[in-house]
Amino acid sequence: MIRHRLDIAIVGAGMVGLAQAALLAVRHPQLRVALLEASTEVPQISADHYDPRVVALTQASCELLEEIGAWEEIGDRRACPYTEMRVWDAEGTGSVRFNSRDVQMPNLGHIVENNVVVAALRAHIEALPNVELVSGFRLESWWRDCGLWHLQPRSERTNLVEGLEESAETLRTRLLIGADGARSKVRDLLHIRSRDTDYHQTALVCVARSEKPHQHTAWQRFLKTGPLAFLPLAGLGDEHHCAVVWSADEDLARELVMLDDQAFCLNLEKAFESRLGRVESVSERFSFPLRARHAESYCGPGAVLIGDAAHSIHPLAGQGVNLGLQDVRVLSDEIGRALKRGLEPADSSVLERYQRRRRGDNAATLKAMSTFKSLFGAGDLHWRWLRNTGLSMVDASPLLKKRIILRAMAV
Ligand SMILES: Cc1cc2nc3c(=O)[nH]c(=O)nc-3n(C[C@H](O)[C@H](O)[C@H](O)COP(=O)(O)OP(=O)(O)OC[C@H]3O[C@@H](n4cnc5c(N)ncnc54)[C@H](O)[C@@H]3O)c2cc1C
Repeated sequence: MIRHRLDIAIVGAGMVGLAQAALLAVRHPQLRVALLEASTEVPQISADHYDPRVVALTQASCELLEEIGAWEEIGDRRACPYTEMRVWDAEGTGSVRFNSRDVQMPNLGHIVENNVVVAALRAHIEALPNVELVSGFRLESWWRDCGLWHLQPRSERTNLVEGLEESAETLRTRLLIGADGARSKVRDLLHIRSRDTDYHQTALVCVARSEKPHQHTAWQRFLKTGPLAFLPLAGLGDEHHCAVVWSADEDLARELVMLDDQAFCLNLEKAFESRLGRVESVSERFSFPLRARHAESYCGPGAVLIGDAAHSIHPLAGQGVNLGLQDVRVLSDEIGRALKRGLEPADSSVLERYQRRRRGDNAATLKAMSTFKSLFGAGDLHWRWLRNTGLSMVDASPLLKKRIILRAMAV
């Protein structure tokens, strides 16, 4: 049965909320932590199908999952290490190859299906005595008095809240962490505004089977209508499956969604210049409208935002969840530091230090993604020349390549 008086309540059991709960529970067994999740679905991992939603986890993210104790399970299941990344421009000859040899590392990162990460973290949390996952709790309203947040789920769903006494569905907590994704209720309830940019693009995601093996390479072609990525997948017996993330202008995306599988395969193969031979088949397609968002502040009294609730970015560099996991690491460091000094984790100085350490970094990445998106979307000759020359220059400079790789791996 869930304890109704908590030290920390985390809203949202996506990858970031789960990692935050697990890291806090592992580092600070004395804290009582609850993770409140609106959905009651349990992620299923199919032995013969991939989850088309994947993430490219950096080395820093893998290390964090290792500290939590969840990486072994993820790695054993279906994590595909990639040793090379190839990026090229559809409108010119500019291209760049990054290889793990450039930085004397065994790989540049791992491609993992979202549900594999979520399932491993959930299994890990179930085994931790000081953290509880409350499914079916959609946070709807709250009030705060004497430094305590009182949290209530949406009333008509109360009967779905597992493990919660019907008579006492209000949870009380000192610190509230909003990990409830891009359309964060916590952010709204705190009256924190966000700066939004609509990219007018949609990301189509699916899994494609290609004629040639993926070569443990992450491929990205920049088309004028948006970037197209083929990301290598592990398991299911061979190396011919890639997760496709095709970010396309809205009109094109609408057309692509309507195509039957055969026509879609042909379009995909053409857009990818047949780099892996024929696209033989594709899975079901899913689409996500693309929007950048950055919360103007990451904290309010006794409350803080992490992950997509604080920032969401264009998937072109695959950094969204990696930034979120760095939020997790820094917030846990700051809470640990506070506990050592006899401070409350919800103390405003703790939350402000977290904000100072994360907001600048996240803002810089958001800006870089928007600049890339504009640069590669520009059709006129000058911009085309500039980006093709830029790609070729980076490709010819081992020092520059090394810097870029090390910077990307540290996120
Ligand atoms: C097409 C695409 C490709 C991407 N590729 C990559 C990649 O390669 N690498 C990468 O790092 N990132 C990538 N991203 C971004 C990445 O998926 C997100 O950054 C990441 O999923 C955010 O995790 P989160 O836990 O912060 O939020 P979410 O995954 O959105 O989780 C939020 C959780 O909160 C719950 N919730 C919401 N409201 C409430 C409420 N009121 N009460 C209780 N619970 C609530 C939701 O049910 C959900 O479980 C990609 C994104 C897209 C769209």
